[in-house]
Parts: sequence; C-alpha cells; structure tokens
Amino acid sequence: MNRLRDELSIIGLTKLESDMARIRQHGTINMLIGRLLDGVFDLGKLIQPGDIGLGAFHGLDGEMIVLDGICYQARADGVVRVAETGARSPYVTLGTFEDPRAIDFQAIEGFASLSKRLDAELADTNRPALVRIEGRFPRLKARSVHPQAKPYSGLAGVAKSQAIFEWTDFEGTIVGVRFPEYLQVLQVAGWHLHAISTDAARGGHLLDLQVESAHVKLESAEGFEVCLPDDESFRKADLPVDVHAEVQRAERDANHLE
Ligand SMILES: [Zn+2]
Repeated sequence: MNRLRDELSIIGLTKLESDMARIRQHGTINMLIGRLLDGVFDLGKLIQPGDIGLGAFHGLDGEMIVLDGICYQARADGVVRVAETGARSPYVTLGTFEDPRAIDFQAIEGFASLSKRLDAELADTNRPALVRIEGRFPRLKARSVHPQAKPYSGLAGVAKSQAIFEWTDFEGTIVGVRFPEYLQVLQVAGWHLHAISTDAARGGHLLDLQVESAHVKLESAEGFEVCLPDDESFRKADLPVDVHAEVQRAERDANHLE
C-alpha cells in the first residue's frame, strides 16, 4: 500500500495522507448556479460505508443526507426515504472521520451562534472541515426543494420553489461541511448542514435551530478531492465565477419565504 502511494506521488497524482479526515466532492456549487442540475453522478458508486455527507438529487428533487453510509432523500413534500438504488446526483460532498474531536454542546440559540461555536472549536479555519452533531433540538427549521423542470433556472429561482419546515422537539443528527470563503467557487462558504431525525421521518437543509444538548464530532480535513462530470453539458457550460452573490440571494430568499 505504501509502495503504491509512493508510486502515485512519483507520477504526480494527488496523494492523500491517512491521518486526517478526507472529503470527496462530486460536482461544484458553481455548476448548480450554472444550471447543471442533471444527476451526472451515480450515488451507488460514490457512497462508502461510514460516510457522512450531503448533496442534491437529479433535478434538485429534495435534499440529500448521508449518514453512516446510508443515503436519505428528504423531499419537499415532506417524505423522507432511503434513496433508490440507481439514484443520481449533480452535487454531493462525502467524508469520513479519521481522528475527530468530540465535544458536547449545550443551549445554543440559532444557526449563527452554532456556526461561531463550531468555528471556535476548529484548529484551522483555512481547511475544509467535517462535522456530525447528534442531539436534541427543541426547534429546527429546514428546507427542501421541489424537483425542477427543464429548462433549469439558477439557484435563486430554485429558492422560490421550496418547502420550509419548522419542527419542534427534533431529535436527530446534523451532518455537514465547512469550507473557507476562498474556496467558494467550488463549495458553499461557511457551514453547510443537513439534518435528519432519529426516526428518519423528517429532514432537510438546515436553516435555523435551537440546540438543547448535542454530541459533536468535528475534524479539519487534510484536503478534498473534486470530481467533475465527463459529459456534454459540462463541457459546454459557461461556469460562473462570482458565486457569492447568487448563493447569498438563494439563502436570503430561503429565510424570508414564510
Ligand atoms: Zn444544502
């Protein structure tokens, strides 16, 4: 194994060390903003045992939550199910912990406060990070997106066709990643979190919450791999570079939709 890794490094391929969390990403946020919403990646080939992660499905049909290697689809009609065999995605981020920090959180009010607490626990905010938060949330607000029809619109248009859920007494797990701002062409900057209840009946893209108590696993990643589709639409796409404004607009619309 070491010999193979040495050979890979000699021929110039990316070599990932094995003592920090690793993140594997298929698709990029600017592909979604560039309206590339087709499921170009076969999830069955990507998700490995023990993975956590999040993403989107073909045509943005619901929100994806990956927990312990199981892929859940939280649809905008409120139905949560294990994703079908053969489900495909335009955008998915997966990771496994290697040596995470374990911390207990108590009494945190709001997404911004949670983000600050998580940031404070990170050794290095210039690296991407992976998080898993299991606990009790007296209040949790999430969204999911209705499937989009072609021709696809950008994320701001998508934000107008979503469902917002506000739950009380939510017990479950939140998984996600944090990417620094300088990588925001590829990933949402800041904490991007998806939630699923313990009974797997409720879930979505996390917008806001109250934490009563939670066990947190957190780890900075040594880096991340980006896999890009080998298809016609991607080859022809004019991919946006200024993604910040679009993502902010989509998030703001999401928070003011009630
Ligand atoms: Zn999301």
